[in-house]
Amino acid sequence: MHEEPHEPQPVLHPALATEASDVVDVTERTPEVSSAVETSEPARKPRVIALLNQKGGVGKTTSTVNLGAAFARYGQRVLLVDLDPQSNLSLHFGVESGPEQRTIRDLLLDPTCRIEDAVQTARPGLDFIPAVTELALVEGELAQQEGMQTVLRSKLEPVYGNYDVVLLDCPPSLGVLSVNALTVADEVFVPMQAHYLPLRGLEKLLQTVHLISQGLNPTIRVTGILLCMHDGSSSHARAVIGEIESQLAQFRGMDVPWSTATVLDPPVRRNIKLAEAPSFGLTIFDYAPKCPGADDYRRIAEQLLIGWGLPHGSFDGAAVGGNDSDAAVPKKRKATKRAKRGVKAARGETAKSTKPTGSSKSASKSAKKSAKKSAKKSAKISAKSAKAASKITKRASATKAVTKVATKSVKRAQVTLSKAAKANAAKVARAARAVKVAKAAHTSNMAKLAKVARSSKPARSVKASKPAKAAKMAKPTKRPVRRSLRSGGLSL
Ligand code: ADP
Ligand code: MG
Repeated sequence: MHEEPHEPQPVLHPALATEASDVVDVTERTPEVSSAVETSEPARKPRVIALLNQKGGVGKTTSTVNLGAAFARYGQRVLLVDLDPQSNLSLHFGVESGPEQRTIRDLLLDPTCRIEDAVQTARPGLDFIPAVTELALVEGELAQQEGMQTVLRSKLEPVYGNYDVVLLDCPPSLGVLSVNALTVADEVFVPMQAHYLPLRGLEKLLQTVHLISQGLNPTIRVTGILLCMHDGSSSHARAVIGEIESQLAQFRGMDVPWSTATVLDPPVRRNIKLAEAPSFGLTIFDYAPKCPGADDYRRIAEQLLIGWGLPHGSFDGAAVGGNDSDAAVPKKRKATKRAKRGVKAARGETAKSTKPTGSSKSASKSAKKSAKKSAKKSAKISAKSAKAASKITKRASATKAVTKVATKSVKRAQVTLSKAAKANAAKVARAARAVKVAKAAHTSNMAKLAKVARSSKPARSVKASKPAKAAKMAKPTKRPVRRSLRSGGLSL
């Protein structure tokens, strides 16, 4: 909360103002401030952060996963909550959820489902609650529930003591799921790209947070703008960062939830490794621990921990198969090669030692041991790779199915089009026939007219050659008519 509310009451800066009707007004339905926030806050409440942006594809899930993984490697106990019906967060951990696995859907809709039933562990210190695609329907179901905006908060509260940081991966909308996240969150990070259009989207988001702060969660703060897929060489991106910073600066000291917001440092550079990692079911620190993406997320986590006064001294940078700069996949191949070499050495198959001597016996023993170890390690790795491969195959078959459906609908559209084209062709032919008939009629009419003209030629020649005579001839016919009218008592 801010100590010095300014007079008059702070309003949105004109640059951040949008139509009020665009924003979900959740305060209407629950005008009272939740007492849970004010009175029963547990002593060891973790930092609960919602990663929110109503736009999809801006880096919410990538940031939730990799920032969470970085916090965990700094020794924090982290919980990630997947609130997105696309359930992408769960994919990052290569975890297949069976039908018996409880998910965020159960947690939100089933009063008997406890949070412990839904939590899975990705690695020590890093837990997550998976989502399901049916989560899209949850919005509707939740909307009918009493106290629907605070369900997530009431479910999370019992495990607050188990975690230091909770990150909420919000869906790309400002519906009831996002409102649930905003109701429980202390802070909001806004992942976005440094483009002009995303900046406009920010206005609506800030207004939503403002509404939440006026009712459901008075202490919520937007604290970080997280720039994702950043292209530092683009002057446009730099200009937009400058624009965001100068806009945010205008709210310093004001009683608005984003008065302390800053652009988090460093921006996360566009890095293909970040896009590849989820297809292997790995975080960036397991997949490519020395790539720019890993470095950026680690540095952001470090900066945040420093700011929060939490431990940030040692970072567990060990990845699957080692901690060199290569990606995890080549490392797996290296590990397998090492194992093979070890087995060969154990069998005495190396070029140098074909005949075992006294000293080579002990060497062979240790080689056997290391070979066993390496073999075990490589078996573990290949099991993981097989899992990742099966996932890729599954995804490929899903894509195939979608392509099939798309091809079918294209064919259907083509048939409809050709039918319509045929019908049109028939219409054109009919019209052409009608034109032909009309032309024929016109020709015959013209012929008739010509005939009539020919037959009336003499009269016209009389009129033309002797006009005075013709006029004289016409006169007598008029007089009797006038007379007859007068005789009838009518005056003209
Ligand atoms: P959201 O959760 O907002 O929909 P995602 O985190 O799923 O967005 O990111 C959208 C896509 O962009 C994903 O394919 C992701 O792998 C990719 N991506 C995210 N951040 C980066 C980055 N810094 N560099 C390259 N690709 C990225
Ligand atoms: Mg997402």
